Amino acid sequence: MSTDQKEFDVLVAGGGQAGIIAAIVAAEKGARTCVLEGAPRTHRGGNTRHTRNLRPMHVGPLSVLSGTYDEEEYWDDLMRVTKGKTNEHLARMTLRKSTEAVGWLEERGVQFQPPLGGTLHLGRTNAFFMGGGKQLLNALYRHAEKLGIEIHYDAMVEDIEFEDGHFKNVTISDGRIFAAKSFVAAAGGFEANIEWLKEGWGEIAENFLIRGTPYNKGGLLKLLLNNGAQKIGEPDQCHAVAIDGRAPKYDGGICTRVDCVSLGVVVNKNAERFYDEGEDFWPKRYAIWGRLVAGQPDQVAHVIIDDKAIGSFMPPVFPAETADTIPELARKIGLDPTVLETTINDYNAAVQPGEFDHTELDGVHTDGLEVNKTNWARTIDKAPFRAYCLRPGITFTYLGVEVTDQAQMKMADGRLAPNVFAAGEIMAGNVLGQGYLAGIGMTIGNIFGRIAGSEAADHALNR
Ligand SMILES: Cc1cc2nc3c(=O)[nH]c(=O)nc-3n(C[C@H](O)[C@H](O)[C@H](O)COP(=O)(O)OP(=O)(O)OC[C@H]3O[C@@H](n4cnc5c(N)ncnc54)[C@H](O)[C@@H]3O)c2cc1C
Repeated sequence: MSTDQKEFDVLVAGGGQAGIIAAIVAAEKGARTCVLEGAPRTHRGGNTRHTRNLRPMHVGPLSVLSGTYDEEEYWDDLMRVTKGKTNEHLARMTLRKSTEAVGWLEERGVQFQPPLGGTLHLGRTNAFFMGGGKQLLNALYRHAEKLGIEIHYDAMVEDIEFEDGHFKNVTISDGRIFAAKSFVAAAGGFEANIEWLKEGWGEIAENFLIRGTPYNKGGLLKLLLNNGAQKIGEPDQCHAVAIDGRAPKYDGGICTRVDCVSLGVVVNKNAERFYDEGEDFWPKRYAIWGRLVAGQPDQVAHVIIDDKAIGSFMPPVFPAETADTIPELARKIGLDPTVLETTINDYNAAVQPGEFDHTELDGVHTDGLEVNKTNWARTIDKAPFRAYCLRPGITFTYLGVEVTDQAQMKMADGRLAPNVFAAGEIMAGNVLGQGYLAGIGMTIGNIFGRIAGSEAADHALNR
């Protein structure tokens, strides 16, 4: 062994929630543990920095959550969004174990708060982190440091060595080598790698905005796949929402999301509607809108609302374009005024009578349009009118490595990697074949982070 090589019981690559949770569990079991975080300390924690909540199953009130959200309801929700593209065994295990997630985090200093109102309808299902993902990370990093976990920043894993199928070590960006008895891969997806996104999406990926960290380029995922890991998921499957077109290329975070789609209509650059804006509650639908906008000419769209919508959604960070007439609004956002006015007039004429209620699927709909709106279809007629420009915002990718219920990585030849475990986005495709349910990303990372850390420690300590 060279003198600058370090050896641990458990080595974790990736310092988002999945990685830091795995490291904490391993250290609490007595393993000498090290975390290699590719980002600098100021940007530690990947996409987790931007998160707000997770979705735990609960029978009866749980911490800040009211009522009951049981396995069957959770499972039905998951089936609806994934359309059955999930591993039922792993998914149900995740749901059941999610009951412990809030308590586990609270015991390690993470604080929760009830959700805000608005278009999200999450008071029963989603536990919100007080202070968001950054508070969660700060609490977990503080706990990890107290446990004596060695944390290296700017430590991007760039190479990995296996011997007879066993993990041996990794090399990081500055050339240092870190060896361990067990390895936890928790380095996120490849959402910040436009060239890789193009493999699934083609050239249009050039127009995508990346909502989270620029550091999740999929380097470790590629290394694992090149070393024979079994791939799961498709290259174009991901969580992608419609975000404000003025958002930065990377790391714009949650405040760039535009949450008023269900309160208005959405048109493409030809000023034509293309999808039912009121199909279901927003948390069950927002994750399809990135893909929908990606399918439109130039990957751009505009949501149009009137004054009645104001106050019913959390405004994004950028102000809307505003005008007193629809043609004037069209001119401001670069659409054909006549066509947009016709689209809005046709929509208004198709709205059927009914009692608008945004807190439930109110069935207030349009009739006779090529694309009808099935809920919350109010006329757009009260000035001032507002428009937000939309672009596809990629949150995270689903293609990853296949794992067992012990978070152990499977190899393409059917064997199990004896000392490699995976958690978080890098394996989320085992549960999420397609679609998305608000809060399940953090739930998967929490559950598999805990399992991976525990199994990695047991392996390293011969338990
Ligand atoms: C804007 C936004 C909002 C979101 N909100 C929610 C929410 O409210 N609820 C929810 O459930 N989910 C949410 N998600 C999804 C959620 O962020 C992820 O599901 C979750 O954070 C994944 O955790 P992770 O640890 O796998 O990945 P990350 O938190 O992304 O961590 C991966 C880490 O790996 C590091 N890394 C990358 N490559 C390497 C390498 N080669 N070597 C070493 N380190 C490397 C990165 O620097 C990063 O710190 C949101 C995502 C975004 C972008």
